Amino acid sequence: MSKTIAINAGSSSLKWQLYLMPEEEVIAKGLIERIGLNDAISTVKFDGKEEKQVLAIADHTQAVKILLDDLMRLGIIKSYDEITGVGHRVVAGGEHFKDSALVDEDVIQKVEELTLLAPLHNGANAAGIRAFKEILPDITSVVVFDTSFHTSMPEKAYRYPLPSKYYRENQVRKYGAHGTSHEYVAQEAAKIMGKPLEDLKLVTAHIGNGVSITAIDSGKSVDTSMGFTPLAGVMMGTRTGDIDPAIIPYLLEHSDDFQTAEDISRILNRESGLLGVSEVSNDMRDVMAAMEQGDAKSQLAYDMFIDRIVKYIGQYLAVLSGADGIIFTAGIGENDPKVRQDIIRHFEWAGAKLDASKNEVRPVKGLISTEDASLKVLVIPTDEELVIARDVERLKK
Ligand code: ADP
Repeated sequence: MSKTIAINAGSSSLKWQLYLMPEEEVIAKGLIERIGLNDAISTVKFDGKEEKQVLAIADHTQAVKILLDDLMRLGIIKSYDEITGVGHRVVAGGEHFKDSALVDEDVIQKVEELTLLAPLHNGANAAGIRAFKEILPDITSVVVFDTSFHTSMPEKAYRYPLPSKYYRENQVRKYGAHGTSHEYVAQEAAKIMGKPLEDLKLVTAHIGNGVSITAIDSGKSVDTSMGFTPLAGVMMGTRTGDIDPAIIPYLLEHSDDFQTAEDISRILNRESGLLGVSEVSNDMRDVMAAMEQGDAKSQLAYDMFIDRIVKYIGQYLAVLSGADGIIFTAGIGENDPKVRQDIIRHFEWAGAKLDASKNEVRPVKGLISTEDASLKVLVIPTDEELVIARDVERLKK
């Protein structure tokens, strides 16, 4: 019996979940926010209770110390020795990391080098890894990459039709994201469908604030909608997804607020998507509420959102030459029956048909298609932290 901690470090935050393994039981979880400020907040949830503290936290090392102190103070662990493993989520693994890996100095350096591909994320991820190495140097430490599941994509799918030198010299190619989520929901779907994953063709739709769609053949990612960065693919809460790249030089010449690389990145990543079109919110619940009040911009944003998802699922049904299942996951995919219905009604020709009563159940897990549907539809709540904890167990020496 051992306790494993799954860590998801952001630039100013650290999300964690403590598991009893191999039972896969969540003992406690929490979030440290506003790292670097005098009024950082540490929240711990355990035993149905929630504890919140406001305090100064200078950096990630101190955040890790506070998290471990909290675990002791609240009696969740009696000594540090009870924690035998830590798993860290890392956003960009580039071409190097095809699987999760045990942490050593070389691995940390590679994660830091890959900051070039995920400037906002990898630096924070590396800081979290170093903080744990410093405080608990002897426990099993594992890194789990958002990109590694997608390293199975064929070159024709991951290359862009740019001059090849940008691939050779600048590593410009599709890496994808949300890999742990797509892999987990595919594995869980296979169990529910009662078939080995190796015998299935699946399209997984991770629809949250970030959205990505993946084509999975025999358990392997063969294509995914996110690209060189998580900006590509379908429209999202605040991100454009795919747009004509010629819009960028055009707006550089013709719009005053679209002038620097920073402007472009901010507008495309943070001010677009549901938020940009509705001018109401990036949150689907707000957009739907406004739409129900008759707000035309919110209706358009919603219709565009569904349209882009339908197109990607359609593409991937073709890439796979037909599929056995479509799987919905993440905030919207797990919770919104209308979104699922508005998407699936486009795929009745392919054999998908929703069982309306199953689709409306909340919370829903498992099959939501009719008995006779040849293309099954499932909802699987994603659990990226559990994938991390499982990988720590798998790689333990
Ligand atoms: P992230 O990509 O940030 O992890 P989530 O997976 O948490 O995002 O998804 C956030 C999205 O899920 C928001 O747009 C939110 O409106 C939507 N969402 C959450 N709960 C519900 C619900 N009950 N009904 C409809 N949408 C929901």
